[in-house]
Amino acid sequence: MNTRGRALVAGLFVVSMCAACAQTGQKQVSLVVTNGLVVTMDEGGRVIANGAVAIDGADIVAVDTSDVIGREFSGTETIDAQGQVIAPGLINTHTHAPMVLYRGLADDLALKEWLERYIFPAEAKTVSPEFVRAGTRLAALEMIRSGTTTFVDMYYFEEEIAKETKAAGLRAVLGQTVIQFPVADAKTPQEALARASTFIDAFKDDPLITPAVAPHAIYTLDGPTLTAARDVAQRYGVPTLIHLAETRDEARTALERGAMSPVAYLDGLGFLGEGVLAAHGVWVSDADIATLRARGVGVSHNPESNMKLASGAAPVPAYLTAGVAIGLGTDGAASNNDLDMFEAMRMASLLHKLQSGDPRVVGARTALEMATIRGARALGMAAQIGSLEPGKRADVIVVDMTAARQTPMYDPISHLVYTTRGDDVRTTIVHGRVLMRDRRVLTLDEAAVLREARAWADKVRAAVN
Ligand SMILES: [Zn+2]
Repeated sequence: MNTRGRALVAGLFVVSMCAACAQTGQKQVSLVVTNGLVVTMDEGGRVIANGAVAIDGADIVAVDTSDVIGREFSGTETIDAQGQVIAPGLINTHTHAPMVLYRGLADDLALKEWLERYIFPAEAKTVSPEFVRAGTRLAALEMIRSGTTTFVDMYYFEEEIAKETKAAGLRAVLGQTVIQFPVADAKTPQEALARASTFIDAFKDDPLITPAVAPHAIYTLDGPTLTAARDVAQRYGVPTLIHLAETRDEARTALERGAMSPVAYLDGLGFLGEGVLAAHGVWVSDADIATLRARGVGVSHNPESNMKLASGAAPVPAYLTAGVAIGLGTDGAASNNDLDMFEAMRMASLLHKLQSGDPRVVGARTALEMATIRGARALGMAAQIGSLEPGKRADVIVVDMTAARQTPMYDPISHLVYTTRGDDVRTTIVHGRVLMRDRRVLTLDEAAVLREARAWADKVRAAVN
């Protein structure tokens, strides 16, 4: 059938459905996900047994019991979530997507040695537009398969990452990296800033992509460049992404520049404010936390990367008490070594219980909030994403709960944090579009993505030897 014929049949289908709607009083919508246990993560923490979500186009139009949704709406497409949990898509607030191609390249090292001896040299020899495209496809495949619907990225050739992210159908905040030394996409920080401006111009009105500026860290940038990067972000009204207070070494950089801490140093530059998302925030004092709160800075907590590089444990209970907007991240797969946000939730919860000696801190609900609504707040996107509520974008996951490991289930929130794995996600929806249905990814050629990633690994191996 040609395109016109298909359109005609689709048109007839819609007309006949709407004729049915007229008789039943139902409103025609694009998609209904029904018969599931809905974990909304809304203000009231509503959980709906035998619930459903009605989606029209990119938006959620209703969240209620399956009976009510079935009476009021008719979906052009319906997904039956029997035996499954329907939840907001997960938000990964810090990663470097293409670094999945360095997964397992160098382990068991501290940040400084890991970066300077392995990662920066490998990047100098292998990062290219083709590399970041292949890496982003692999990362997108992994994220779709494990229920991440929004990710925050800091890397190079961010316009290529944006194109692949859009093709895969994911939502993302993408930060063009600014760093003092020559890198694959810019010889100087000035060139990187010019690239950032071009990138922002190209994607500023995109429904899925929020472009951003990503000054790497205080230990890889001088003061004037940090200020210049922040100025570009403010001029365009886009987010600023930075690694902040990740290691004890970084605290020394701040001291050398005459400030008490990395946070105090950036505050002295006038850098901190709304729209800044700081990754890690491990080496901070109570005064630093108060400063981050007062300036409206969001924080991304990356428990697995912090543990693996032995960077330290961020004072998450103190951030929560102070009311700082704090989300969860995986960091790049070279330091994690995967992008599974379920694992990040579990690790966040367990790490802070161990660290504080108090099993009540970072409970299951708080961990799930950090991966959803609190992450959305840290990004300044809580009006659009982070919970299942009418008027928000339809970023939804359906999670299987029938494995032996998940049986029986008394509390879905406990299960999402303490027993679920990324592989349990059956269906992933972003902006109302089904990206994976019953474990089949619809927007990427899975075999080709994996084949291509293995071919890149051969080049990486040759480059670092
Ligand atoms: Zn990072």
